[in-house]
Amino acid sequence: MSAKYSDLSGYFQHKGRQFADRCTNCGLCLEACPVFPQTRAAKAGPKAAITKVTDLLKGGEASDEAYEVVFSCNRGCGLCAKACPEGLLPYYLGFIPAAARLIEAGMPLPALTYQHLPGHRYNSGRFLSALQMKPAETRWMMRPPGDPQPADVVFFTGCAPLGLPHALLETMDILDRMGIGFAALAGGDLCCGMAATLWGDLYAAQRLGQELVAAIATFRPKKAVFFCSGCYVMCLGTLPRFAAVSFQPYELPQFLLENVDKIPFTKTVDRRVAVHDSCHSARLGAVDAPRRLLQAVPGIKLVEMAHHGADALCCGGYTNSVRPDISEPVRRAPMNEAEAAGAEVLATMCAGCHESFAPLEPGYPFEVRSFVSLLAESVGVHREDRFKRYMRLANLPAIVGQAREYLDGGDYTVDEVERVLPDYLRRFCPGHGLLR
Ligand code: SF4
Ligand code: SF4
Repeated sequence: MSAKYSDLSGYFQHKGRQFADRCTNCGLCLEACPVFPQTRAAKAGPKAAITKVTDLLKGGEASDEAYEVVFSCNRGCGLCAKACPEGLLPYYLGFIPAAARLIEAGMPLPALTYQHLPGHRYNSGRFLSALQMKPAETRWMMRPPGDPQPADVVFFTGCAPLGLPHALLETMDILDRMGIGFAALAGGDLCCGMAATLWGDLYAAQRLGQELVAAIATFRPKKAVFFCSGCYVMCLGTLPRFAAVSFQPYELPQFLLENVDKIPFTKTVDRRVAVHDSCHSARLGAVDAPRRLLQAVPGIKLVEMAHHGADALCCGGYTNSVRPDISEPVRRAPMNEAEAAGAEVLATMCAGCHESFAPLEPGYPFEVRSFVSLLAESVGVHREDRFKRYMRLANLPAIVGQAREYLDGGDYTVDEVERVLPDYLRRFCPGHGLLR
């Protein structure tokens, strides 16, 4: 990103115009898209639908077709970019500025977007962690420490991964056993701005990113380790344009690999494991670290899916978050490849991917586990994945019954959970025919 852009919005506006000028509206991108055929814009055909997007970027009117294309894209698989003869990045430099234009034109965000809004009472990290941990255990996750003590290493959980508290706590267990001193930062409403970028709220994205960088800086760390590769990408490439990033960002696998000699392996994890690379890591080419890390675990044998590394298939990504009604084919594709590869475990690298795959586990002959949980097992730690337990139940009364012990004395009443949880089940367990 060039320093000539004064802010994130200006950058994407400029890129959007460039995209629209270079695009020939050939439609090959949407012909290659696995999501487009499920959208209402498919009736118009790929050429007409992409033309609505480029028209919008040239100052034309907001249209339902452009909305469908832009807010259905998973922002991750990139098959459109591979198909584009002009070498453009439709899903990123076309659809993000188009999303911003659609919001400016007054079109609503997809209904489930609130689950990703920092500060929203029912955002996913806040809400899902409250179903899995007692209030005393999650309190630190909801607000940054008032008096941060200097630490060379800050571990930032990210916002969405708060919905998988077992993996965050396992990470900290591992770091403790490695003898690495660190400060943990979660702070409920702290967010790198990646999610807001994906739905086109670029002013919010920049503000959130700047707030996060400032919060990390209060610890005066040399290194910041990110559980979520989206946060890592933002702190590495985007935010330095608009904020003073005074620490070295690390993806968690990369940090653990650099310190692998400190991991006290005590147990054999005798499984065939397929790594599912997150879209962010795949685009960065950061696909070796997770494999080298897991290969260091005694007993693990890696197998590869047909698409892996830089060619990894998307978990459903943004589409899965806001349009679960149409994301299932994309979501199942990597699961099917893991089965074909003979995996006993599909290792997820990203909280969003884990949330996409774990609810589908009952239909497959392998487990879905965070890569962190495999490492944790190898050092003798186990924390239950309660998110997966609930999603396997896929039943509102059963989940609420099991979550009651965590809700007591917390932020949400049982009535509230019964009202909000169906939206989450709609997102994670589409097609289960459950709910109210
Ligand atoms: S990144 Fe989006 S537009 Fe591109 S192929 Fe994937 S879902 Fe379709
Ligand atoms: S394939 Fe490329 S040039 Fe063709 S419509 Fe899509 S973005 Fe435009």
